[in-house]
Amino acid sequence: VIQMSNVSKWYGDFQVLTNCTAHVHKGDVVVVCGPSGSGKSTLIKTVNGLEPFQKGKIMVNGISVGDSKTNLPKLRSRVGMVFQHFELFPHLTIIDNLTVAQIKVLGRKESEAKQKAMAYLDRVGLTVQAAKYPAELSGGQQQRVAIARALAMDPVAMLFDEPTSALDPEMIQEVLDVMVELAREGMTMMCVTHEMGFASQVANRIIFMDEGHIVENCSKDEFFEGAKSDRAQMFLSKIL
Ligand code: ATP
Ligand code: MG
Repeated sequence: VIQMSNVSKWYGDFQVLTNCTAHVHKGDVVVVCGPSGSGKSTLIKTVNGLEPFQKGKIMVNGISVGDSKTNLPKLRSRVGMVFQHFELFPHLTIIDNLTVAQIKVLGRKESEAKQKAMAYLDRVGLTVQAAKYPAELSGGQQQRVAIARALAMDPVAMLFDEPTSALDPEMIQEVLDVMVELAREGMTMMCVTHEMGFASQVANRIIFMDEGHIVENCSKDEFFEGAKSDRAQMFLSKIL
């Protein structure tokens, strides 16, 4: 679904990504980890065109992200993205948060969009909150709404950037539970996270980044049983 080949990116003179190559197949759950500032967020944002890159190639579902002819808004609508800070529309109710892009971007009828929205809210256990505004929900609930909103667009893949790191400890699990369920249902996922419990439960590949390089790209077992690089070893010893 996602093919990233030799991607390099600079912010001015600063090279933030160097020759990054990674493939995410249908149904894969890829966990991206590594120290702060290693380029994880940047990497994941290049996948749906939120950050441009200067070298290399990224294909998502057969569409070239870096091609100037590509309709990025359309591509983005099909690649769900969930950030650290739940970016819900504050002035819209929960149900409207879930329907607006379905209607405006995908051209669905309001009734169909509502039906989808309610089905996904049900999946994340939030149907009773449909008429509320984001500010009336807890952080964990807002993050589950953000996931439901992305799912309502029938994404070909879901990208997560530290979706639980801004949450209070007691809310982390409810979000991880939703992510684990999604993974088990076969959703293609690329997740920046330091939740190694999640990684060991559902990931099939781990990408470890350091200073803009992908230094490990291996199976979960290979990673936990013996990460090859010293840098990954050190990282693991700190977080496990
Ligand atoms: P964290 O774990 O803290 O979220 P990260 O691995 O996600 O870190 P990035 O946010 O991708 O790292 O940043 C990688 C590097 O690029 C950092 O050194 C950062 O300072 C730099 N950087 C990020 N965004 C910009 C920007 N808009 N302009 C210039 N430099 C940037
Ligand atoms: Mg980041």
